[in-house]
Amino acid sequence: MAKAVEREHLLEVKNLVKHFPIRQGIIFSKQVGAVKAVDGISFDVEKGETLGLVGESGCGKTTAGRCILRLIEPTSGEVRFDGKNVPSLPKDELRELRKEMQIIFQDPYGSLNPRMTVGDIVGEPLHIHNIAKGAAKEERVREILETVGLSAFHARRFPHEFSGGQRQRIGIARALAVNPRLIICDEPVSALDVSIQAQVINLLQDLQEEFGLTYLFIAHDLSVVKHISDRVAVMYLGKIVELTRKTELYKNPKHPYTQALLSAIPEADPTIKKERILLKGDVPSPINPPSGCRFHTRCPKAMDICKVEDPAFVDTGDGHFVACHLVPAANSSENLA
Ligand code: ADP
Ligand code: MG
Repeated sequence: MAKAVEREHLLEVKNLVKHFPIRQGIIFSKQVGAVKAVDGISFDVEKGETLGLVGESGCGKTTAGRCILRLIEPTSGEVRFDGKNVPSLPKDELRELRKEMQIIFQDPYGSLNPRMTVGDIVGEPLHIHNIAKGAAKEERVREILETVGLSAFHARRFPHEFSGGQRQRIGIARALAVNPRLIICDEPVSALDVSIQAQVINLLQDLQEEFGLTYLFIAHDLSVVKHISDRVAVMYLGKIVELTRKTELYKNPKHPYTQALLSAIPEADPTIKKERILLKGDVPSPINPPSGCRFHTRCPKAMDICKVEDPAFVDTGDGHFVACHLVPAANSSENLA
């Protein structure tokens, strides 16, 4: 019998929580509530894998990404990078780890300093982390610019001289400069024209292969992550509701929210009839999320139990995780028949 291959996790996230306090009063300000942006999410990312993280705007994707990198402090939970618990690392060790974990931002306009040349932008992390100085730094910058499909002479130019797609290449070059192992791509193509999106995604895929990179790829719809992801996690109001291999998710979505998201993707083949599932109402506020299953106020299949009991996030078989009262766990009686 074949021996099960132990998966190698580069990143492990357990019960990650980020609540932003809401304060009232100017002098004796007291906390009157919290924005529950991320409310207990768990997943892991294997070495060399791309995990897609998908959900509507405001569901907590960026907050999760920033907590993982500790650009903001998580409220609680574990983030293990190569075994080290990121939230409890002292400053000097965190600084070392920052070389290994980088981020590409959504907005290629706002995330590049307009007063710095491209060479200075891409070279800055080399300087901060004492990796290269002077001529060696310039040489490395030129090399990275060419790796991302720009030219060495672009180093002397300023961000405003570039198109959106080219600016995102500069953002990618800046992230790559320090030879990271993990890159959090926070909606890297959402601000780009559709025709440019595929080019940037292809570039990210080529770079992944060349440098053995691991990606957490954030997007707000399932069509963008379809090509690049190995597995996909679907988020709703601060929680992950479904997580499985990409092929399985698109073929056999089990959570009603995933089913609704998938029904919204236009079908390329006109002979396939697809019924669009329209969700009622707006996404509720993360300050006061619904009781029980957070999705019950919009779920077309909601039952009484969904209003009172938060469904556990369980393996429904073969690593297909779902948090829904309608979907039994792999070891329950329904699955043993
Ligand atoms: P996404 O990236 O999925 O669009 P975000 O992580 O940006 O979502 O935001 C999740 C929720 O947290 C939103 O309701 C947002 O308004 C709130 N939020 C994000 N950052 C802050 C902050 N610094 N202070 C208070 N609330 C915040
Ligand atoms: Mg975001």
